[in-house]
Amino acid sequence: MSTVDAQLEIAETPVNSLGLELTGAKEARVGDMTVRRLLPLRLRRSVGAWCFVDHYGPMSVDGVAGMRVPPHPHIGLQTVTWLISGDVLHTDSLGSEQLIRPGQLNLMTAGRGIAHAEVSPAEHDPALHGVQLWVALPETARQVEPAFAHHSELPTVDIAGFAATVFMGSLGGARSPARVYSEIVGAELIAGQDGRGTLPLQPEHEHVIFVALGSAKVAGTALGPGSLLYLGTGRERAEIAAPEGSRLILLGGVPLGEQLLMWWNFVARTPEEIAAAAADWRDGRFGTVADYDGEPMPAPPLARLRR
Ligand code: MN
Repeated sequence: MSTVDAQLEIAETPVNSLGLELTGAKEARVGDMTVRRLLPLRLRRSVGAWCFVDHYGPMSVDGVAGMRVPPHPHIGLQTVTWLISGDVLHTDSLGSEQLIRPGQLNLMTAGRGIAHAEVSPAEHDPALHGVQLWVALPETARQVEPAFAHHSELPTVDIAGFAATVFMGSLGGARSPARVYSEIVGAELIAGQDGRGTLPLQPEHEHVIFVALGSAKVAGTALGPGSLLYLGTGRERAEIAAPEGSRLILLGGVPLGEQLLMWWNFVARTPEEIAAAAADWRDGRFGTVADYDGEPMPAPPLARLRR
């Protein structure tokens, strides 16, 4: 982040005419892909335990390599991979190898440390569209053993004419089987032909909602891809409406109440932990991701780490 960006971001979080926080994505590069980075925000580092939201595509990867994210390390978080179209192959330092398709969840718990790579398989779908999300592990779970899980069967519930697939936590009486470490919800809502009505929310949770495909109106606010609407705690419902086929992503949870320090792919609490993790990666202590054809991702220079 440049100094200019940092100064611009200190401005008040934008509030729309209804008093709701509505922020625009920043463009970021991940490998060869340009992505919409919706979280973290300068003044809102996490929503529940969700601390990172990238939305990429839809894009054509027909006849090209597609996604190429070389081996890189993580600590202190869970990565949530969710596809809207296409396919991605996950490999990690535990020896996991898993192809993921739309409607399925890849959940990698980094805990004290793991390395992984994500690529389009050699023979891949011509389209690619998805979200990459991180969940911060709370203090009590930051040092858990690393783990990887694939969930191909997730509960779907009809809410207000939307088919809601719950991939993390619970919503509308449906609960994901995925292992979580805080009170949380992550769900995709696909509008049917009468997608209009009331979305029930947990008042103890704060939430964000964004459009991955199509458009929507949420709590009176028009949304398209690239905008993030924040709904604070104390709210029991939101009115939602969207044209058929539109897809919304709802993320929320009990406010984390912990000060995160995020640098590169690490979620920590102190600069010393970040520096130790960077040294561990440089010195090969995260283990090896097998079968990746290329060099691992080097860590950027450690600079200006602030709490
Ligand atoms: Mn990663």
